[in-house]
Amino acid sequence: MAISKALNKYDNTNDVHKVALKSEDGVFRMKIKYLLDEEEIPKKWYNVAADMPTPLDPPLHPGTLKLMSPADMEPIFPKALIKQEMSTDRWIDIPEEVRDIYRLWRPTPLYRAAALEKALKTPAKIYYKYEGVSPAGSHKPNTAVPQAYYNMKEGIERLATETGAGQWGSALALATTLFGLKCTVYMVRSSFDSKPYRKSAMRVWGAECFASPSDKTNFGRKILSEMPDTPGSLGIAISEAVEDAATHNDTNYALGSVLNHVLLHQTVEGLELKKQFDLADDYPDIMYGCCGGGSNFPGMVFPFIPDKMKDRKDLRLVACEPSACPSLTKGLYAYDFGDTAGMCPVIKMFTLGHDFIPPGIHAGGLRYHGDAPLLCNLVHDGLIEATALQQTEVFEAATLFARTEGIIPAPEASHAIKPAIDEALRCKKTGEAKTLFISLTGHGHFDLAAYDAYNDGKLVDYEYPADLVKQSLAKLPKV
Ligand SMILES: *Cc1c(COP(=O)(O)O)cnc(C)c1O
Repeated sequence: MAISKALNKYDNTNDVHKVALKSEDGVFRMKIKYLLDEEEIPKKWYNVAADMPTPLDPPLHPGTLKLMSPADMEPIFPKALIKQEMSTDRWIDIPEEVRDIYRLWRPTPLYRAAALEKALKTPAKIYYKYEGVSPAGSHKPNTAVPQAYYNMKEGIERLATETGAGQWGSALALATTLFGLKCTVYMVRSSFDSKPYRKSAMRVWGAECFASPSDKTNFGRKILSEMPDTPGSLGIAISEAVEDAATHNDTNYALGSVLNHVLLHQTVEGLELKKQFDLADDYPDIMYGCCGGGSNFPGMVFPFIPDKMKDRKDLRLVACEPSACPSLTKGLYAYDFGDTAGMCPVIKMFTLGHDFIPPGIHAGGLRYHGDAPLLCNLVHDGLIEATALQQTEVFEAATLFARTEGIIPAPEASHAIKPAIDEALRCKKTGEAKTLFISLTGHGHFDLAAYDAYNDGKLVDYEYPADLVKQSLAKLPKV
């Protein structure tokens, strides 16, 4: 505690910075960590649906475009998750069996990025919470574990899913093996080819993994015959996994982002984070998180939404997405299909169109055409803002982070590092000692080919594919 008290005092000259980072024992500290005990793993998840100013627009049936009923979802989801999906209860109990597995890596550490601050010579304070300490190396097991648990409880034997960069597939492979379930993963072709070791990890954990589009499903075969060279997309892979689940009685479907229950599970992050900011005797001015389907970022920031609606109106929450797939910053707020085949519920979100295939950027986990309805609702209401970044500037920021903080960040997470660095540099000009927070979703140990491409000068930026998006948006369902 003594360290953080001292930190509040420093101004923007480097010497004072150094002095300020000395703790009471007089030692200069570059690594400051805020840790919680295991008992402080949350006992309940927080459901933001209880506190949103505008109620969520309900999901619609993809065939009839009428309201979706719980029974419509039963062929592919367990009842417990359908109940959570539709719940507006503020707090939902975390089963003890799930907390017990969370103990493998939770609570995750909150770090003060003292070395990064020093390199930037900024008076801003930068913190990051690191989810890369999970066995799968990202935040995704936070929801994979409860999803596998509820399916196991209801007698399901196998889960089918899609994966982009491979993090979700490996998280679900891990979770299913811990509960004795089988797992089938449809992996977007571009990542299947560029990230072979993710599928190796899935195999170790006992899952089978196919490149999508695959010849295992009707929809995969259809796409392969029309576009044999397609890099694939999350929308296509989701359609394949849903078809697999819907056509097998012992099999359910699991989704790693977007759905309400996924965001609910991820709030373990933000609930821990609030306690850790208390420990640090600090509170964020701006929180940054990368946004693919929108699960880590909501998980971190939703527990702060009640504060923002009451006495912390200045708190800024910034969702960070790639310029190549800019759903929040350039998409349309409309009902759209969650997948390419139009088998998933039709949901209200910021969308680029369900058959939009984004360029094969290296942050494969950020290539979804839409975003979570809960997140989009709050963006639409102005409680959350969004920004878009190019991949070369993102890798440049990631490299500075690795060279100061030591951790090699996942390319996805680096989308949140870049704007935080920009803000810290702005603070240097104005002398503001703002408190900045980065959601560090995972490590980049499986993304080293992308770092090589960056270091070899081979990474290209993509402009916003306006024409493609326009074509895709023309095909929105008419509701
Ligand atoms: C999947 C993934 C993301 C993006 O997904 P969200 O659902 O938007 O959080 C970000 N970082 C990592 C490391 C991921 O695995």
